[in-house]
Amino acid sequence: ALSEKLQDTFRRLRGKGKLTEKDVDEALREVKLALLEADVNFRVVRNFINRVRERAVGQEVINSLTPGQMVIKIVHQELTGMMGAKAEKLKTSDRPPSVYLLAGLQGAGKTTTAGKLAGYLQKQGRRPLLVAADVYRPAAVKQLEVLGAQLSVPVFSDPGRDPVAIAAAAVEKARQTQRDVVLIDTAGRLHIDEELMGELAAIKAAVNPVEILLVVDAMTGQDAVNVAQNFNEQLGLTGLILTKLDSDTRGGAALSIREITGCPIKFVGSGEKLDGIEVFHPERLASRILGMGDVLTLIEKAEATVEAEQAKALMKKIQKDEFTLEDFLDQMRQVQKMGPLDQILGMLPGLKPKQLQGFVLDEKSMKHIEAIIQSMTPQERRTPQIINASRRRRIAQGSGRPVQEVNRLLNQFEQSKKMMKQLGKIGKGGLPRLPFW
Ligand code: GDP
Ligand code: MG
Repeated sequence: ALSEKLQDTFRRLRGKGKLTEKDVDEALREVKLALLEADVNFRVVRNFINRVRERAVGQEVINSLTPGQMVIKIVHQELTGMMGAKAEKLKTSDRPPSVYLLAGLQGAGKTTTAGKLAGYLQKQGRRPLLVAADVYRPAAVKQLEVLGAQLSVPVFSDPGRDPVAIAAAAVEKARQTQRDVVLIDTAGRLHIDEELMGELAAIKAAVNPVEILLVVDAMTGQDAVNVAQNFNEQLGLTGLILTKLDSDTRGGAALSIREITGCPIKFVGSGEKLDGIEVFHPERLASRILGMGDVLTLIEKAEATVEAEQAKALMKKIQKDEFTLEDFLDQMRQVQKMGPLDQILGMLPGLKPKQLQGFVLDEKSMKHIEAIIQSMTPQERRTPQIINASRRRRIAQGSGRPVQEVNRLLNQFEQSKKMMKQLGKIGKGGLPRLPFW
């Protein structure tokens, strides 16, 4: 495989103290062959090799690295750049719903990906509506309905009508039912043809999607790149989703598709299960190809699972009115870990920044909050209603904080409980992805 070949080459380079131009040339010839064998487009390979050679042979040498490490670093950077450098987020409309049109050849994985995306977005607290606009095969509608049922995401279909009318009606329906994302699954053909493009263009004109995402099967290598180029010219794509990265692909599509089409890869799919989708991180794939491990992806996965479970447990407590000051403290710690509030806010539906005033979460305030809560008796933490004026004074004294601060904390706690109850209602279909107080 590509990864193994490159790793062999670099293992040899790594051992060297000094690199001659001949070493570099030899290594690059091997890299070039490995890339071509992996079905990376030859123009992409040529440009890539030229860029690496220019930088490797040039003046760019950092003291702390051996020349061998330098080359690996440059190759890593250039591989990353070739795939787009940074992860690209999905765009959203200023006026909901955000409409995402999924296009692609038959069998590329559109319907599966529509389901996966619905699940992914739902976990982020969005409210997707799936739309079955593939009317030519009755089984296609059924397939999407099965996926929707698994996720408890509604599926809009109307097999009697044409795809354009269905798409338009679905967006209207989303508006009426407060669905903020519309995912349109369309029909594919075995090959690109005018009818397919005409239909997609008509849907595009009718619903003005914020993203037109091409779903491409990574297993098809160079063909995937050609298909993407063609769709992009005719339809104007905003992003790509590569599927079937789990199968024994040679990787060429992922490496050349961005550079050839100029379209960012936004997600990669693997496996047939609904959670088999990830935001595409160029840097991580480059690391994986070069055998540097993919620790980041693993960490992210682990974190997402833990968060989801904690959020679920928390929601139960809130619904049963069992949310305590201890849970509150846990939540504060979590939120603090997650980073700036405005970012977290962006992920939550129906919350206004105004509601968060007074929630300062720097290190020092956290310490104070902790001190106050720790100065309460277990009973007080569980049933804060009993904390009267004299208890407040005792807690203030115990924690070394002013009484006003104790009062403020208790108010925030009550307010948080209310907010969370609201959030729980909003997120009927799915819990807000991030636990929140
Ligand atoms: P569509 O015709 O573009 O809608 O493609 P489908 O979503 O129906 O997928 C075609 C086949 O590919 C189905 O058997 C899917 O289960 C399978 N499939 C889709 N995405 C993936 C993936 O990422 N990995 C694997 N292994 N199979 C996939
Ligand atoms: Mg389909």
